[in-house]
Amino acid sequence: MSKKKFGLNTICTHVGEVKDEQFKGAVSPMYLSSSYEFLDVDVKRYPRYFNTPNQEFLSKKIAALEHTEAAMIFGSGMAAISTMFFAFLKQGDHLVVQNTLYGGTVNFIKEEFPKYGIEYTFTNGYTVEDFEAAIKPNTKLIHIETPSNPLMTITDIKAIAKLGKSKGVLTSIDNTFASPVNQKPIDLGMDMVMHSATKYFGGHSDICAGAVASSSEHIERIWNVGKNLGGSLSDITVWMLERSMKTLGLRVKAQTKNAIKLAKWLEKHPKISKVNYPGLKSHPEYKLAKSQMSGFGAMMSFELLGDIDALKFQKKLKLIKSSMSLAGIESTMLSPYLTSHALLSQQERDNVGINDQLIRFSVGIEETKDLKRDINQAIVALELS
Ligand code: PLP
Repeated sequence: MSKKKFGLNTICTHVGEVKDEQFKGAVSPMYLSSSYEFLDVDVKRYPRYFNTPNQEFLSKKIAALEHTEAAMIFGSGMAAISTMFFAFLKQGDHLVVQNTLYGGTVNFIKEEFPKYGIEYTFTNGYTVEDFEAAIKPNTKLIHIETPSNPLMTITDIKAIAKLGKSKGVLTSIDNTFASPVNQKPIDLGMDMVMHSATKYFGGHSDICAGAVASSSEHIERIWNVGKNLGGSLSDITVWMLERSMKTLGLRVKAQTKNAIKLAKWLEKHPKISKVNYPGLKSHPEYKLAKSQMSGFGAMMSFELLGDIDALKFQKKLKLIKSSMSLAGIESTMLSPYLTSHALLSQQERDNVGINDQLIRFSVGIEETKDLKRDINQAIVALELS
């Protein structure tokens, strides 16, 4: 049976398993060898070559989920994104990149690109016109993030892919927030898709990993740079990631269902002034999100009314954890200005709309009513204190 015909949860469960030929165990054996035979073998395996049995097979699961020919797994999302950028950008090339983006990616571009003579332009906004206006004769790559971290802006993936093709420029997307459960950018025409696998792929807040999926040709180019940069993932973690990804579809669907209910409830909450969630009709790109996502995801952000201190509020939460990361099965919150976007200047944060009242909310799988109760009790506790 063709792997393309498999449904989401079948891919999550079965594609990319390493068969235990020796003992016929039900799960993939873990191959921890860092040294493999080189004589009379088709593939010379070595962990930094991203081709140990566990690495090779897990990348098949990611490729199947993202509808690509190939994929690679890295030691972190930043290893994935930096290797991808260095594979397609060299001295004198130019990158067009969305202005509302994960802070670590922004920081990487600003700190590292000048050292290698790579030019970049952050767009003024996230419409296709904003991207087109930033393209130069030496532009080689357009990079987008949608939904974006932390404001949940939505960029028109099809339009960006079309723009790239019309200008002969490659396109890449950070698909971390949506995950392939809710969004398949390759089907919409993008060339490459990357993930912080630390997030939904791992899903239990105990793995740091990254991934890129694309055509075999592009992955070979990324591999050529990746083996030099050395950002591969240990096989213990690869094995854990494979196990985690078996429930990716189940987890993300449950989290998405919870998030819709919570976003609607938060929007009506008297102490909350704004909710950013693409599944709300009030979201400026609701229709676009609906057209390109199969689910709206489980990430949102909201602003507390000005008289409520966002940090004191988070300290009063009992169930929802304050957390640097996101996308685990447990609900978490953070203040982007102190964490994911702390390295941006106040002016840069003001420009994109990240203020001190903004809280990023990663919705988990807990019962919706318990999450609502926790938010309410934290507000009441603050008012009484
Ligand atoms: N992309 C997005 C959207 C993220 O949120 C993050 C991390 O928070 C990254 C990339 C970087 O991933 P990692 O921390 O796994 O390197």
